[in-house]
Amino acid sequence: MKAVYAGSFSPPTKGHLDIIRRASAMFDEVVVAVLSQEAKQYRFSPEERRQMLIEITRAFPNVRVISDTGLLVDVVRRERADVILRGLRNSSDLLFEMQMAEANRQIGGIETVFISCLPEYSMISSTIVRDCAAHGAPIGAMVPQEIVGKIYAAYGVAPCAERKG
Ligand code: ADP
Repeated sequence: MKAVYAGSFSPPTKGHLDIIRRASAMFDEVVVAVLSQEAKQYRFSPEERRQMLIEITRAFPNVRVISDTGLLVDVVRRERADVILRGLRNSSDLLFEMQMAEANRQIGGIETVFISCLPEYSMISSTIVRDCAAHGAPIGAMVPQEIVGKIYAAYGVAPCAERKG
C-alpha cells in the first residue's frame, strides 16, 4: 500500500520525522508531499522544504519526497497512491483533520489514515520552530540535527547555544 503524507513542513520537525519513520514501517511506499498554496507566503521555499525532508529521510529507502500545489486528492491520484496519511498531535488537531478527511473522502473517494504522534513530540509545531529560530533561540530539541543550521541560516541569525534539558 502506498501513502501520501502531506503537509507544509515549513520547516520539518522531529514530530514529522517520527510519523515518516513509523509510516515507512507500515506502508510499502510513503510519498512525503510538500504542499504549497498559491496564495500563501512560506518562510521556506518549496524546494528548501523538499531538500530538508530529503536530508532527514535518507535512512528510509521506501520514502520519496515531492513538492506540489493544488488539491491533495489530485496529488494522491497523480501518485497513484492508496491513502492520505496525517499525523495527530492532540484534540485541537482532531476536528480540523476530521473535516479534511471527510472532504477528501467526498471529493476524491480517498481515505485518510492517522498516526498519533509520540507524547514527546506533541507540543512541537513548525510555527514555534520558526518563532524560536527567528530570535536565535534553541531549536535542537524540535528539529533533526541535520537541518538546524539551514533553519537558522534562513533567518540570518546566529543561533544561541543549545540548552540542556
Ligand atoms: P499542514 O499545514 O498541512 O497542517 P504541517 O506541516 O503543519 O502541515 O503538518 C503536516 C502533518 O503533520 C499534519 O498531519 C500534522 O498534524 C502533522 N504534524 C505536525 N506537527 C507534528 C508533530 N509534532 N508530531 C506529529 N505530527 C505532526
